[in-house]
Amino acid sequence: MALDTAAERSIHELEERLRAAATSHPPLVLTPAWFQQHLLDWASSDPDFRVKLLRFVDVLPALRSASAVSDHVRQYFRGVHQPLIGATAGIASTPVFRPILSRVVREGVFAMAGRFIAGATPEEAVPALAALARDDVAYTVDLLGEETLSDAEADAYLERYLQLIRTLSAAENVTPPGAQWADVPHVNISVKLSALCPHLEPAAPEWVSTAARERLRPLLRQAMESGAFINFDMEQFRYKDLLHTAFADALLEPEFSAYPHAGIVVQAYLRDAAADVGRLRELAERRGTPFSVRLVKGAYWDEEVIVAGQNGWPAPVFTGKAETDESFDRCTDALVAAWPHLRPAFGTHNPASIAQAIVKWREAGLRPQDAEFQMLYGMAEGLRGAVAGLGLRTRVYVPVGQVIPGMAYLVRRLLENTSNQAWFMAAPSETAKSAMPARPAVGALDRINNSPPTPLFEPQMRAEMLAALAQRRKDFGREYPLLIGERAVLDRPRSRIEYQCEPGTIIGEVAQATLADVDEAVAAANAAFPAWRDTPAAARGDILRRAAGLLEDRRFALAALMVYESGKPWHEADGDVSEAADYLRYYSAQAEDLETPRLMGHVAGEHNEYFHRGRGVAAIIAPWNFPLAIICGMAVGAIAGGNAAILKPAGQSPLIAAELVSILREAGVPPGVVQYLPGRGGEAGQALVEHPGVDIIAFTGSNAVGLGIIEAAAKTKPGQHNVKRVIAEMGGKNAVIIDEDADLDQAIEGVIASAFGYAGQKCSACSRLVIAGSAYEEAAARLANAVRSLVVGPPHLPETFVPPVINEDARRKIEGYIEGARGYAKLLVQGRTPDAPGPYVPPTVFSNVPLDSPLAQEEVFGPVLAVFRADTFDEALAIAADSAFALTGGVYSRNPRNIAQARASMRVGSLYVNRKVTGAIPARQPFGGMRMSGIGEKAGGPDYVRQFMEPYTQSENTMRRGFAPEEG
Ligand code: NAD
Repeated sequence: MALDTAAERSIHELEERLRAAATSHPPLVLTPAWFQQHLLDWASSDPDFRVKLLRFVDVLPALRSASAVSDHVRQYFRGVHQPLIGATAGIASTPVFRPILSRVVREGVFAMAGRFIAGATPEEAVPALAALARDDVAYTVDLLGEETLSDAEADAYLERYLQLIRTLSAAENVTPPGAQWADVPHVNISVKLSALCPHLEPAAPEWVSTAARERLRPLLRQAMESGAFINFDMEQFRYKDLLHTAFADALLEPEFSAYPHAGIVVQAYLRDAAADVGRLRELAERRGTPFSVRLVKGAYWDEEVIVAGQNGWPAPVFTGKAETDESFDRCTDALVAAWPHLRPAFGTHNPASIAQAIVKWREAGLRPQDAEFQMLYGMAEGLRGAVAGLGLRTRVYVPVGQVIPGMAYLVRRLLENTSNQAWFMAAPSETAKSAMPARPAVGALDRINNSPPTPLFEPQMRAEMLAALAQRRKDFGREYPLLIGERAVLDRPRSRIEYQCEPGTIIGEVAQATLADVDEAVAAANAAFPAWRDTPAAARGDILRRAAGLLEDRRFALAALMVYESGKPWHEADGDVSEAADYLRYYSAQAEDLETPRLMGHVAGEHNEYFHRGRGVAAIIAPWNFPLAIICGMAVGAIAGGNAAILKPAGQSPLIAAELVSILREAGVPPGVVQYLPGRGGEAGQALVEHPGVDIIAFTGSNAVGLGIIEAAAKTKPGQHNVKRVIAEMGGKNAVIIDEDADLDQAIEGVIASAFGYAGQKCSACSRLVIAGSAYEEAAARLANAVRSLVVGPPHLPETFVPPVINEDARRKIEGYIEGARGYAKLLVQGRTPDAPGPYVPPTVFSNVPLDSPLAQEEVFGPVLAVFRADTFDEALAIAADSAFALTGGVYSRNPRNIAQARASMRVGSLYVNRKVTGAIPARQPFGGMRMSGIGEKAGGPDYVRQFMEPYTQSENTMRRGFAPEEG
């Protein structure tokens, strides 16, 4: 908005007045004073201490005894250089002080929470609301709670919201008296979509809207009945579209379309904030009844930056404070212009932002009482008084609830209060770094730019995925030939691949290799090998990197094929493409390094080189569950290392492998170097394993088949010129431990993802859950409710979390385990399956599982979880260790000592702390097991390509007639 200089001057004057008011008011009322004052000050000046403090505050409510509190104080703050804290940590080691210390610390943190949270229940909060009303300030109440992981928890949340409206309607003395409040509902609550819907799938806004409106309708009805205002809070960026869709759909329903007392939030720190205002204005115009928009800066800045960094996405937020302030101003203009369709509420503690909103509003000729100013409870009280003193509608956002589930809120406020503004100005990477403990630097070779997952929360991306699924349907029925050398061979018996959710729908047909085909392919590979080996690794790498680009260009088409062929839900299929592209890039770099001669020793008169070259012909025998990534990783390990690869995909997933081979060839891999040989495992697979012309076998699959291959490969055949090397990645029976002090919101969510993502058909899946001590009852109950709420359905629908298993054979086998377990364990919960065709297995959890039972020891490879109770953390570790497999393992704990103990004693290939145990990313979490889970270097790890190569030493005597050049 163009302002004249007079207006600019009045903004400036007003800003100065507000700023003076803001700083004149003492910011805190502190009890116990020493604790809060010092902590917040220190945290502001010491990033390391700030991390410790935030983590401690986060875990404290979950500590159920005095000794647990003092133990954590000691562990968290030992070595902290602040004298008071250091002394406190010291006192914590003296038993007699523990109860006192525990009380003081608890009271300190709870008092700190009490500054930002008005009460544990709505009733308790009423006096605080009445106090605000006396200052002519209104409220909006936000109910703090645990993360909603199930329908049962969402129902409970809805009930709390309804009760909240009733309680507030009946409360007395909570209405501010000023004339500016004349036409405004006095009951005002803020709700979160995440509270009302346990399955916030960013890729499925329509589904989420439908599910969420089941609970939004009763809420809106109650609001209309009581004349209450409902504001829908914005949360993380990935959920923004979900909220916009559900909000729009609800407000356009005839029953609610004329109700004006609803609102939504726009976060100015988002790069597309101004577009959000535009979109909301259109909605309001279409609806014909206005609604409110609360403009805020945004409260999830740290998280947004970290999540974007982890996924390789551009940050959705502005990274500088000034840019956010400018965005706030732009959105203010848009809101002023959108009157009367949108009713603005400016939620900010920035005197400049408030001043410009006030003046712009006035300049536009609008009534002061039609705009609202909102601030957070316990913050900026002086500023609030000054704004209210101008006779403007001033409202406070008041969180109400228990401190324990309110911790996430408290941590966000503490982040803000200890930020000193500095963090907000820093580049994102620096902020993220300051929050991490110091670690050794990552070597250049182990840093790749991972292929980012598709941000399916973006409408354009969803549209592309839907288009790719539709296009695939048009291509159904294609025929896939064998690719042997230069020949494409189709006249063989065929295997037909069916979409399991639509019996009779044939996705494609693939020729099956005969034994003669195996011979021919091995001969072609041997013929092509020497030239490929002698092609410089850098040139091989250029080809493979080109292939990575092609995979990414066709990522939707490839993912769509995996959806149909392997029953992979959208995110899983998309992740498979990223993983495949990562292998291509990472292994190319590794091969270049391995091939480059390394000088050894340092002695005059000799020149010693050590380097690697390709070994020969590799048979790649792959499973169906990561149908693109695993076969690609194994094949590319071989090809990058200068070998010729023959790909034998699993019988269930040959089609995607054919497309991979075509892409590798298109990128420039010679036909003899990459060949496609689908066929039965027991025939073509076995023949490859036993063939004398094969030098390397890279296998990923079941334990039984893998051990058979190791045995068969050990037998030397006539004419064989190489001892076969076998790389075998096999099954798992992976355990996750939930410690007593674990964050259960995080733990249950992680266990659900690990155990039931892709119907548990991952070698890394969690199939055993061990819950320690006092966490058991609550964790088991929340888990059971979460399992009941899982969305089971066909993989082509974006909302599906648990798809059917791979085929009828697998279903029968898994059902056999479930039936067997009913006889020796207790069925804790069994989820739903849709009444539709497809080999569905309901997500199933058993407790009281004997340690020596099949469910405790054998790989089931389906959505079945065994739960164990352990009295102590040590016992939990022992249960977790009780397995022949050693692939992945996980621990949810906030106890540094227990985490250290788990790191030291859990002998699994990949240990995950406070995160899910699936979803390893190449060059970040190298992946592979030990014991019966496999032999071989880790996939996506620094040593992977080496095992496909042979090491050479060459030593030359450089001394002639007693003279030698310098070595070096
Ligand atoms: P599978 O063992 O049945 O089949 C794997 C491959 O081996 C297929 O291509 C199959 O055709 C072939 N094969 C079967 N019999 C053969 C024989 N006699 N000789 C040669 N090849 C033969 O496994 P699957 O059902 O495809 O995959 C699931 C299994 O894979 C699970 O056990 C899972 O844990 C394991 N897996 C392990 C990892 C890992 O990295 N450790 C990764 C994914 C899957």
